[in-house]
Amino acid sequence: MEDITASDKQDFVESLPEIQADEKFCFDCHPQVPCFNQCCAELTLPLTPYDVLRLCRHLDLNATEFINTYADQTINEATGFPQLTLRMNKEPGEPCPFVSPVGCMVYENRPSACRAYPLGRGTKMGVSGIVERFFMVHEEHCHGFDEGHKRTPNEWFQDQGLIPYNESNDRYMRLMSMVQATEKPLDHRLQSMCRLTLYHPDQFRAMIDKMKIFTRVRGKNLNCDLIMQDSLEGDAACLDFALDWMELVIFGQAANIERI
Ligand code: SF4
Ligand code: SF4
Repeated sequence: MEDITASDKQDFVESLPEIQADEKFCFDCHPQVPCFNQCCAELTLPLTPYDVLRLCRHLDLNATEFINTYADQTINEATGFPQLTLRMNKEPGEPCPFVSPVGCMVYENRPSACRAYPLGRGTKMGVSGIVERFFMVHEEHCHGFDEGHKRTPNEWFQDQGLIPYNESNDRYMRLMSMVQATEKPLDHRLQSMCRLTLYHPDQFRAMIDKMKIFTRVRGKNLNCDLIMQDSLEGDAACLDFALDWMELVIFGQAANIERI
């Protein structure tokens, strides 16, 4: 599979026509559009750690089972971070493994990229946090623009349930950007630790127990019970902590936690 890096993706997104935060666009996708399901094939569809945890919960699989069955893994050359893409079915037309005649079988937990379409969101770190810009993908075969509700980019993201995805993905992008700025990609040991902590909450919880990590760090918003809880909320808290933990391990200090 082609190696698409985070900066390649960002460059591609930012080459598209820009749409302002308060600008409305007309779009709706539903089973009555003549192109229904046509776009759910032959995709290079990135999976962020938050995408993976939502899909694992939906499919009742652990991360190892999910990744072995549905994902391709590469390493981002610039950062050394593991990067996952959804593996298309190896059959004519290469359909997404989750597409069906009645639509997406994982709709409530579909990945961020599927939710955002037809918008792209470019982000960068500003003085007072993330600065976002929006871009429009307008593909000829897509009839979603023919009619539909008018919404701003933020209204679209709200409607598509993207808010928790963006929050987690922004934290993940921030950590990758910090590493990229050092121009020293993660070594093999840190790559393995990233893979385990960011994508495998069950294994990270076992590591937390074994290394007694909660006796070694403190943080104002550290909710140890929630992080160890076997639930969607627990997995999201575990990923949040994994991002803090990896920042501490890589840089020796982190914004939200510190060594005791
Ligand atoms: S996950 Fe769902 S929405 Fe995304 S490409 Fe597959 S079928 Fe389509
Ligand atoms: S091509 Fe556009 S309108 Fe058609 S199914 Fe895909 S997103 Fe919806």
